[in-house]
Amino acid sequence: MTSAIKPLIAPAHISAIAPYQAGKPIEELAREFGLDPAGIVKLASNENPLGMPETARAALAGAAATLARYPDPNGYDLKVALGQRYGVPMNWLTLGNGSNDILEIAALALLEPGASAVYAQHSFVVYRLATQARGARHIQVPAVDYGHDLDAMFDAIADDTRVVFIANPNNPTGTFVTGDDVAAFLARVRQAHGERVIVVLDEAYNEYLDPDLRFDSVALVRQYPNLLVSRTFSKAYGLAGLRVGYAVAQPGLTDLLNRVRQPFNVNTLAQAAAIAALEDAAFLARSYELNKAGKQQLCQAFDTLSLRYVPSFGNFVLVHVGDAARINLELLKRGVIVRPVAGDGLPEWLRVTIGLPEENQRFIAALTDVLAT
Ligand SMILES: *Cc1c(COP(=O)(O)O)cnc(C)c1O
Repeated sequence: MTSAIKPLIAPAHISAIAPYQAGKPIEELAREFGLDPAGIVKLASNENPLGMPETARAALAGAAATLARYPDPNGYDLKVALGQRYGVPMNWLTLGNGSNDILEIAALALLEPGASAVYAQHSFVVYRLATQARGARHIQVPAVDYGHDLDAMFDAIADDTRVVFIANPNNPTGTFVTGDDVAAFLARVRQAHGERVIVVLDEAYNEYLDPDLRFDSVALVRQYPNLLVSRTFSKAYGLAGLRVGYAVAQPGLTDLLNRVRQPFNVNTLAQAAAIAALEDAAFLARSYELNKAGKQQLCQAFDTLSLRYVPSFGNFVLVHVGDAARINLELLKRGVIVRPVAGDGLPEWLRVTIGLPEENQRFIAALTDVLAT
């Protein structure tokens, strides 16, 4: 169907973009394979299997009454809540239409033709997309053990580099770099390049880290004017469909981001629900516990099936299955949606989001069945 499309003339850096491949929606699979949507398990987009917090649902109902009006362009109430959480003033905060928007805004504010951005092989594809869209050069640094090689990334910083993207934990591989390693990297970058190189530390999965691994990245923001930490409500907070994320950075950097963001980039419902979710500690704790148990469930099954996997610090596991295209297709026929990651340079792997215990079990049973055929 799409093969017949001949793109119109565009700048070369736009024509070069390979569009983002999203997880297949349940309804689409149901249509394609004639399946009952109710029986389909989707473990493809790292969404929260608990659904959205009830507290956020209640906040939505309240906010719905005001939808004839534009959203608060400055997100005052949400920034107050975030500012209290992190102990930073409001002019250290930027809200985004998902943290994807934060990444795009950073690229828009900092990159241009003749500049470059550094990121790791097998890291979040949006880093490349956002860089390409600006007509900037992208420098992909080979991964080590499927994770970031911060020494090599430091060495890869060129005279024209303005941004370094680090996903921590990383998606789609689930790897993690320690707080000590991040701090050492920031010190080196600062010493060698001053504030010319902005480090974007993307912590979309931060809330899934075990407590002993968590480190205070906002303390690093206080120390480094060239650091941007981005977080999201899409994953552990269960609000992916609303699109809301945020950045913490010092005012000098935040001011740049604010110049290029859309004035009303975060909608009213998202702002209201995010405040409720942020304050719902019980929901976050449940998400963490469920994820921890589900990770064990999946990894045990992979061990039983003698499948290699990358130990994950997120809410998904990258597993080596060999002929991933075939296995993915067979899983789809059985009503299970996972994420092929060939586009991330991992053609023999699948990324599986950790679901509810029964969803994980459906996936394990289907995979076991497929591998036996
Ligand atoms: C999911 C994800 C995001 C963005 O999610 P949003 O829904 O746009 O907030 C950002 N970075 C990484 C690494 C992710 O996996």
